Amino acid sequence: MPKTALITGISGQDGVYLAQLLSNKGYRVIGITRKVNPAAQFRLAYLGIADQVQVAECDLVSPTEVLRCLETYQPDEIYNLAAQSSVELSFHQPRGTFSVNTQSVINLLEAIRQFNRRIRFYQASSSEMFGSVSLANLPIRESLLFYPVSPYGISKASAHWLTVNYREAYGLFTACGILFNHESALRGPNFVIKKVVNTAMKIKQGEANTLVMGNLAISRDWGYAPYYVEAMWRMLQQEKPSDYIICSGQVTSLLAIVNLVFSKLGLDMAECLRLDTKLMRSLDLAIIYGDNSKAQRELAWNYDLTIERLIDRLLQDEAHLIQWQKQYDE
Ligand code: NAP
Repeated sequence: MPKTALITGISGQDGVYLAQLLSNKGYRVIGITRKVNPAAQFRLAYLGIADQVQVAECDLVSPTEVLRCLETYQPDEIYNLAAQSSVELSFHQPRGTFSVNTQSVINLLEAIRQFNRRIRFYQASSSEMFGSVSLANLPIRESLLFYPVSPYGISKASAHWLTVNYREAYGLFTACGILFNHESALRGPNFVIKKVVNTAMKIKQGEANTLVMGNLAISRDWGYAPYYVEAMWRMLQQEKPSDYIICSGQVTSLLAIVNLVFSKLGLDMAECLRLDTKLMRSLDLAIIYGDNSKAQRELAWNYDLTIERLIDRLLQDEAHLIQWQKQYDE
């Protein structure tokens, strides 16, 4: 009997890469969405796995719908990736962000507790939970206390502790992947690296003139999404559940990334880049990067892309996606 995996947030970046991975491993994959919408599911079509994933609707904020979903599909593993995932948007929609990102988690954990305690559960935690980190605490390890500085980070910290609590209080197999920024051509258009790569590509093709950016001084730990979903699966295959930081371990400023992208495309920064203070966040993290040695040690998960190779990969994937999208939209 193949295992059944239920992935929430199936129309998002990580949802589709994870669905592809699990489908290749022989899983029956059920993808949960708020609303079945073929246009929103273009990522499944892009990866060529639309036929391999059964997409089903469920309102994760409704306890009865979540319980019914588990009864219907009887999953062995649940990967909870659905969330309002934008830090920026969370400042504009704090109530919505907090309630969706926490209630969905309680509902899933409660449904597992009531329906079948053998179901393994993965929670998409985030480096944004650490928030304000002093230089002395870098690189960040799993043991560092959280000090989130956005409604998004606070919602993820609450969801994280709920997941830990159900493990400790009820003995459920729950694991949190604390992922640092990870990118791909399938990232949402409002996320900064996708914006830089996509706009630079359009400038190169004569379809845009300028890249408008906010704070370029921030430094982050950026990685490649298709490699990160492998770590999610590995967490649920362990003998004992635990929480893991998943990151590249490298730190690069946004300015350096813009520089790399522009120089690889032969674009002139002085000509094509404009700064706009309106795009600056009132509260932003200056620098964060992580230590992935626990994941290396216990999950045998290794990340070996340098930032140069990551940018090459993103440019190549973006060019491919732009071509594909033109045909898909026709
Ligand atoms: P994403 O592309 O934004 O996808 C998240 C999915 O969640 C969406 O496609 C959507 O699926 C669902 N969703 C969005 N808003 C929702 C809402 N208000 N209520 C219910 N569902 C909603 O995110 P991602 O980059 O794949 O990330 C996956 C998970 O990892 C998220 O929980 C994110 O917070 C977390 N994470 C991401 C990163 C990163 O760098 N990408 C880093 C750390 C943690 P439907 O429209 O199909 O419902």
